Amino acid sequence: MPTWLVTGGAGFIGGNFVLDAVQRGIKVVNLDALTYAGNLDTLSSLDGNPSHVFVHGDIGDAALVARLLREHQPDAVINFAAESHVDRSIDGPAEFVQTNVVGTLSLLEQVRDYWKSLDGSRAADFRFLHVSTDEVYGTLGDTGKFTETTPYAPNSPYSASKAASDHLVRAFHHTYGLPVLTTNCSNNYGPYQFPEKLIPLIIAKALAGEPLPIYGDGLNVRDWLFVSDHCAAIRRVLEAGRVGEVYNVGGEAERTNIVVVQTICRLLDQRRPLADGRKRESLITYVQDRPGHDRRYAIDASKLHGELAWEPAITFDEGMARTVDWYLDNAPWVQRVMDGSYRLERIGGVA
Ligand code: NAD
Repeated sequence: MPTWLVTGGAGFIGGNFVLDAVQRGIKVVNLDALTYAGNLDTLSSLDGNPSHVFVHGDIGDAALVARLLREHQPDAVINFAAESHVDRSIDGPAEFVQTNVVGTLSLLEQVRDYWKSLDGSRAADFRFLHVSTDEVYGTLGDTGKFTETTPYAPNSPYSASKAASDHLVRAFHHTYGLPVLTTNCSNNYGPYQFPEKLIPLIIAKALAGEPLPIYGDGLNVRDWLFVSDHCAAIRRVLEAGRVGEVYNVGGEAERTNIVVVQTICRLLDQRRPLADGRKRESLITYVQDRPGHDRRYAIDASKLHGELAWEPAITFDEGMARTVDWYLDNAPWVQRVMDGSYRLERIGGVA
């Protein structure tokens, strides 16, 4: 049974990735600091499963990471751990630098030393996969797409910190030979996403019949990818990606924010109409734009399509319907995030 050390596996994408990996017969050691974004409820179906070892800790804790690597001898390390919310990075950038830059550097140093200790074939097969974002490339006009050779031009403290981590990962390959892979993915959506991000936030507010805030004119464009397609891309890159390479991951599903919100309104009106008969689109409220808000992101994923034959399996319409249905069917998960009990109950409960 292969063993993977996954960091940030109690978060949105990491959580989906861990649930899937364990189901596929991988043993997962899951290192997560359980910030506000880490949620063990997401992993409750793995309680008591010996293929999932949860460790409460920081990627920047060098002694802890060294011990985990020594004890569990993973075949790969997949780094999801990060501060990930752009708005929070505007209010407090320092934490983003701490985890995304300093933490990733510390993790890389420990992984490099572990990798050097492996014997020939295990060292050759080992991989460090760094999960990153298309936001490192900055913003696009009405046309064009980001490719793997687009110059980095991050515009928010979040994307700047992710860009710095990408550069460190690249440097560890060129300087020390560490077998790294980097994926730069577009916006994800799907089950278990923390309701501060656009899609789950709008679902929660629309369900409650509250105003639906949209930044600026609502015409900012993102390329949306259903989270299980991102997880599949990461597995594929891990399995067959060329060491040292970067792979862009995207859904070819560019949508303006207003279209995303209108889609949610329509799906919820069909499934759970408001008691007073109002259409949810009437709740849309334009609010002051985010400072430095990137206008458009679009991913050219042809390298991943061509080299590794990865294609997204789920269309935007299907993914949005699945996502809305998941939030409707999992109200207790959302409720425990909203009332904060997802954090309180684990105090003292995690080794
Ligand atoms: P998330 O905020 O939902 O989860 C991050 C997880 O990392 C949380 O469980 C948190 O507790 C953990 N964490 C934070 N600091 C840590 C530290 N110092 N040590 C250990 N664990 C720590 O984020 P997400 O949306 O799941 O994103 C995961 C990764 O994917 C991030 O690196 C992000 O930059 C990248 N990414 C996200 C998207 C997206 O649309 N969400 C798109 C592309 C790339």
